[in-house]
Amino acid sequence: MEPLKQRILSEGKILPNAVLKVDGFLNHQLDPQLLDAIGEEFTHRFVGERIDKVLTVEASGIAIAVFTAKALGVKAVFAKKFPASKHFDQGYSAQVISYTKQTTHLIHVDGAYLKPGERVLIVDDFLANGEAAMGLVNLVNQAQAELVGVGIVIEKGFQPGGQRLREAGIHVESLAIIAQMSENSLDFAP
Ligand code: 5GP
Repeated sequence: MEPLKQRILSEGKILPNAVLKVDGFLNHQLDPQLLDAIGEEFTHRFVGERIDKVLTVEASGIAIAVFTAKALGVKAVFAKKFPASKHFDQGYSAQVISYTKQTTHLIHVDGAYLKPGERVLIVDDFLANGEAAMGLVNLVNQAQAELVGVGIVIEKGFQPGGQRLREAGIHVESLAIIAQMSENSLDFAP
């Protein structure tokens, strides 16, 4: 998605540990025009699929899920994050290792918002090791809902998440795939 790639090139900052900072339009300040285009693009990438719900994880995924759900005419749900020690009697939880914080936490969705048979599209801002996405897939499976696919805004193609998901047979659509990232440059996959 060309406008997204241009924004990454002009505004993205490369931090240590292969972290790309895109706070100017996706992770802190939000650009509604770009988010609108992202929602439309995901709708286009998954055209022909029946989608009942868009699922993400707080916080950065929420805006992407809302704009995508708006484009699809469905509801968005975000999994909430809790310390790994928390216990839930109801709903669905999965353990996730945070890429940016290197800590383990739980993600949780109330059973009222993820139902058996619902066709779910997962979206998130970044794909690195695939922990967040696999945690969300886990929630979909626990709910006996049906996974349509995973839509990612920025996939770091040099990290293993994309392969992990695709090898699990998941339909992954990434709007920008970074092939390599060094201290002061990055390249997109063709
Ligand atoms: P994964 O779970 O695939 O290892 O990492 C994806 C999650 O970690 C995303 O939800 C995102 O919030 C965060 N993340 C991973 N890599 C980056 C990055 O380079 N930049 C930012 N801003 N977040 C990242």
